[in-house]
Amino acid sequence: MRRETRIVQVGNVAVGGHHPIAIQSMTNTQTSDVCATKEQIARLQEAGCQIVRVAVPDKAALSAFAALVAGTTVPLVADIHFDYRLAVGAIERGAAEVRINPGNIGGRKQVHTVIAAAAKHGTAVRVGVNSGSLPQDVLSRFGGATPEAMVEVALLYSQEMQSMGFDNLIFSLKSSDVLATIRANILFSAQSDFPLHIGVTEAGTLLYGAVRSAVGIGVLLARGIGDTMRVSLTADPVEEVRVAKEILASLDLGLKLLRVVSCPTCARTSSELIGIAETVEKNLEEFSHLPLKIAVMGCSVNGPGEARDSAVGIALAPSGAVLFRGGEAIELIPLREAAARLTEEVRVLAASLTK
Ligand code: SF4
Repeated sequence: MRRETRIVQVGNVAVGGHHPIAIQSMTNTQTSDVCATKEQIARLQEAGCQIVRVAVPDKAALSAFAALVAGTTVPLVADIHFDYRLAVGAIERGAAEVRINPGNIGGRKQVHTVIAAAAKHGTAVRVGVNSGSLPQDVLSRFGGATPEAMVEVALLYSQEMQSMGFDNLIFSLKSSDVLATIRANILFSAQSDFPLHIGVTEAGTLLYGAVRSAVGIGVLLARGIGDTMRVSLTADPVEEVRVAKEILASLDLGLKLLRVVSCPTCARTSSELIGIAETVEKNLEEFSHLPLKIAVMGCSVNGPGEARDSAVGIALAPSGAVLFRGGEAIELIPLREAAARLTEEVRVLAASLTK
């Protein structure tokens, strides 16, 4: 059951309540390079990213930010550290949201100035609490950057900003430790109904980062926690979007994607099956948005059942691969043609679906 949170508008994307969980990513180009950043924003949007965060570390980036806002339809979040004037500048230049860590923006007066600007322009503010940058007094009191310490800091910021009459807020509590991230978000969501941006920070390179993110984000989403999410990867940000979509689709949270079901292989099948499955998966990337199940199975143990249960599938047999379509075995094909034939069948099916 999804936890019901307040609804915060981030540009044209509503975050929270029962709105779909919004996928975010962050550009890694130099923000001041407007062409490169615009191009990356467009790639992210095309991949399915609904909110894009852009670092604004200096005046050159701030100057570019207005051009980026004007050049895209996806809401942009300005990521600001240390200098509150950059946050105010980004708000004035049309940021849909600014992401700040109130602990490093210069002090209470500076935080108030940012919040006043956000209130004036209707800009959302994401308060990012990161285990790596908690205030010293809280660290001493809690004996380190514990989940409880993160929650305490987030709730303090929440009270302070609400006391200013501002509640256009989204919170994030992130750690590179998966369990700490999970616990912090569970504790926070039990005490606050502000929407949560979830993710495991500094998760790692593609494989490790995807696994760690899937575990951390997946556990939270399965408990109904999380209104927007980012998978942090040391990789092309488009990969972050792909992984995020797979996490949402795995949990049946509003996204239905093409899924290639393939068996892990064993002594009952040909070693060629792994190559066939990889080729099929690659061939079908262009159809990833279609809600189809495709089976690539190694033998007659689970193969026919899984293939029959799929839109199209193959199950290897001693003399080749049995091709299934719509629940029926329709043809025996040579192994070397299996990947191409299966791809062709999906192409035909996709064309009929998109007519
Ligand atoms: S489907 Fe057949 S080949 Fe594949 S893992 Fe199962 S038993 Fe082994």
